[in-house]
Amino acid sequence: MSQDAAGHGPTPPTTTDAPSEPAGPNGDLAPAADLDPTVEHPGAPTLVILGASGDLTSRLLLPGLGTLMAQEPDRRIILVGADRTEWADTDWRDRVHEAMCRGGARPEVAGGLAADSRYQRLDVTDPEAWPAFVRSLPADSVLYFALPPAVTMTACELLTRDDLPQGVRLGLEKPFGSDLESAREFNRLLAGLVHEKQIFRVDHFLGKDTVLNILGVRFANRMFEPVWTTGDIERVDIVFDETLALEGRAGYYDKAGALIDMIQSHLLLVMAILAMEEPNRIDHIELRDLMMHVLRATHCHPEIGSHRARYSAGQVGGKDIPSYVDEPGVDPARETDTLAEVTLEIRSRRWAGVPFRLRSGKGLGDARRLAIIYFRPVAHMPEGFTGKVHQNVLLFDLGEGRLGLRIATNGEGDKLSLEETVFEAELGDSPVRPYGEILAGILDGNPLLSVRGDVAEECWRIVAPVVAAWRVGEVPMDEYAAGTMGPLTWGRV
Ligand code: NDP
Repeated sequence: MSQDAAGHGPTPPTTTDAPSEPAGPNGDLAPAADLDPTVEHPGAPTLVILGASGDLTSRLLLPGLGTLMAQEPDRRIILVGADRTEWADTDWRDRVHEAMCRGGARPEVAGGLAADSRYQRLDVTDPEAWPAFVRSLPADSVLYFALPPAVTMTACELLTRDDLPQGVRLGLEKPFGSDLESAREFNRLLAGLVHEKQIFRVDHFLGKDTVLNILGVRFANRMFEPVWTTGDIERVDIVFDETLALEGRAGYYDKAGALIDMIQSHLLLVMAILAMEEPNRIDHIELRDLMMHVLRATHCHPEIGSHRARYSAGQVGGKDIPSYVDEPGVDPARETDTLAEVTLEIRSRRWAGVPFRLRSGKGLGDARRLAIIYFRPVAHMPEGFTGKVHQNVLLFDLGEGRLGLRIATNGEGDKLSLEETVFEAELGDSPVRPYGEILAGILDGNPLLSVRGDVAEECWRIVAPVVAAWRVGEVPMDEYAAGTMGPLTWGRV
């Protein structure tokens, strides 16, 4: 099924044709034609990647940019890499060229962009050098913070509104804050610098395909739209299981865990899209308002609605995995969860009594990214049918880009014996990787795929009671061997 064939609504508008939000302290985003004429490349926005020698930049950001430039080779960008690493321009240009080609950009396109780019050695916690660097940037620049979160926050604290070029946009990586209070504080700090419209909180999980495929299937199909309520849906599961274990990321992960790393920052947003009321039109204002609306109604009772577990030694794909607590850099006393599950209640007429189960973990036997909608049984089943009556299930495979629909059908031999039939379809897949889409959104000033400040806070508010209950040991820490599907007592997803 192609995206077009799936009958999606109109292409999401850019901010220029979307209803406008009030102008912020720095005014609206400058269209290319209004850029400062003294800049070297009018019309080509400057994209500054802070943390240029880091993992995210080389593994995801630059290859993502490569996929974007493979589709739009005429797009003009002036790329600047900044980091505290001692690099010459040539080191950076080699990295840009290699990583963009890895993403699929044509060598001459990657080469052209790399040749025009430069590297700046910079410590963003230096109160002299950092603001001076920002002041030197042309209007309409993008500052992408591919930095450890605490460093990003310090860097923002060192800036004033006057340091920032007109129309600047800020790309901020997850996690956004470390709890509700710090997310609020960060939002207050950012609000003192720029308008919300200029802030792009990144959620690479929420790729355009995922969002639009779910919305398209939900709202453009008469067979699904009217039954998307508690009357017809029994429960919903959203699952992100990884086979990858810690992979040397203890520095970050041991302080976060599965609940914070995945459920708080990603799966709640997928749930919000699955559960939102119907939008009038597909644009960033409507979608983010409706996401906020459903998140505000979402609650968890941690003692009955949450589980946590840690992997012990095992094997994943034939590879030996040590017990999580024996991984280098892990502090066992932190009791970090490597598998988390929460069951949420959405307090609304549409969803009363429908549990939304969100689960994510590492070191599991199978990698899965699923959203599964289980429908209620028919109101009346005629007598006479035999065999198992299979529950109707609609499954979005967000990893493979597939849709599955399970229905009960009459058996081949005995027509009274029911059996299950599964229809499967490919969902339209974008050739641009999520980070390419994210960068395009920021460069074009379209926040459809970025997380609004109040939405980020609300996600922290939802998980806060779970974090508090886990901290005082109200919910036991279970164990599962790496390579299995998690503790058997949790029930299968
Ligand atoms: P890394 O540690 O690999 O990279 C961070 C880079 O920032 C390093 O090059 C580091 O330099 C540099 N840096 C640190 N402090 C300063 C400073 N004061 N001034 C200038 N540069 C500095 O981290 P990641 O790339 O993995 O992560 C970056 C962000 O992206 C984090 O918020 C993370 O949560 C997020 N993220 C990462 C993903 C990934 O797969 N890597 C996936 C999704 C999100 P040095 O080496 O000298 O410390």
